[in-house]
Amino acid sequence: MGVTLISGPPNIYICNECVELSNSILIQERRRTGQTPEMDGVTLENLPKPREIKSRLDEYVISQDRAKKVLSVAVYNHYKRILAQMNPEDEGGVEIEKSNVLLIGPTGTGKTLLASTLARVLDVPFAIGDATTITEAGYVGEDVENLLLKLLQAADFDRERAEKGIVFIDEIDKIGRTTQNVSITRDVSGEGVQQALLKMLEGTVANIPPQGGRKHPEQQYIQIDTRQILFICGGTFDGLHEIIQRRIGKQAIGFNLDDSGDELTELGVALAQTEPDDILQFGMIPELIGRLPILTTLAPLDCDELVQIMMEPKNAIVKQYQKFFELEGRSLEIDREALAWIAAKAIEKETGARAIRSILEEVMLDVMYELPSRDDIDNLTITLDMIEGGERVQLPERREDPQQDVA
Ligand code: ADP
Repeated sequence: MGVTLISGPPNIYICNECVELSNSILIQERRRTGQTPEMDGVTLENLPKPREIKSRLDEYVISQDRAKKVLSVAVYNHYKRILAQMNPEDEGGVEIEKSNVLLIGPTGTGKTLLASTLARVLDVPFAIGDATTITEAGYVGEDVENLLLKLLQAADFDRERAEKGIVFIDEIDKIGRTTQNVSITRDVSGEGVQQALLKMLEGTVANIPPQGGRKHPEQQYIQIDTRQILFICGGTFDGLHEIIQRRIGKQAIGFNLDDSGDELTELGVALAQTEPDDILQFGMIPELIGRLPILTTLAPLDCDELVQIMMEPKNAIVKQYQKFFELEGRSLEIDREALAWIAAKAIEKETGARAIRSILEEVMLDVMYELPSRDDIDNLTITLDMIEGGERVQLPERREDPQQDVA
């Protein structure tokens, strides 16, 4: 990033970095002199209660009720704990330990969405990282510190704010000890990475190179204390349900083996019974699992839920298309059967709700291309037979003789 100079009185300039630095000094100063324990406006009194957090999550995330409840409680307790610790009168009391969260569920069921929505609801900085890109210090790849750098960036380099943020680490199941790995070199993505993550999850003061990238001995570091950062880890743990089924026996799970119809439900029910020991089999070190004491699972999404996802959340994709049409002074409807067709296509791809956007974009491409130059169309309703063949929706032929309309 280049340096931007802002000019003041003649021949006096200040650079963007100094502006940012000064700003954070002012923020910290304001906080230091503040009276009540406060976290960017959140106080013990106005911290949203689990019920409120859940209902805000409901606005963006469909189903996954249990995960939403577990997370709402976890996050509430987490911030309550931080605020209590900031209260000087509360010293010497029982220390509540930090509880990071492990979210388990198939791809595209809302793990990342839940974590990012939580950060939005609580108005705290948020960063996403992928465990598989992290390597042991000294190897080519990212260091764990880069995750914290992202958080710091999300907090506009306000260190105190970053230290109360949420970090989501995806694909945590992919960094298991690779025992069968016959790699000639060391286990780059194995235990060392878990150890590095463990330290961060437990709470450490990490040295962040402000420019990211590799560390250099002579570099200046920003120190970030991770004790109050909430880490939410996510993973699909493919094959986990089989481990669980083996452990408790298929019958005990509570569905009928002959009834092969509902694979999705079967998967959901099995996953809901996950225990920390099941996860050990993915090569996770016990200490790391121990640092993720709150474990909850997300269920695979069925066709109805995918249709709901397209229509209901605040920023649902259908609403976004409708808004676009509205900006052009037109209206758009997509029939439920058409949405169900898209949902069924998405299920085939086995990437949960992730596939929805690309399927819908493909279906709508020609419409979005043609529509702005068509002034003869005010309302468009997309029906099943317009998309069933798998082709893009075509706008109706331009009416040759507009005067007919008048009659
Ligand atoms: P993952 O579980 O793989 O982290 P994501 O949270 O990234 O999945 O979901 C991908 C996209 O699918 C989200 O951006 C969102 O649009 C949609 N989505 C997934 N699950 C849900 C859900 N339960 N409710 C609403 N939208 C969802």
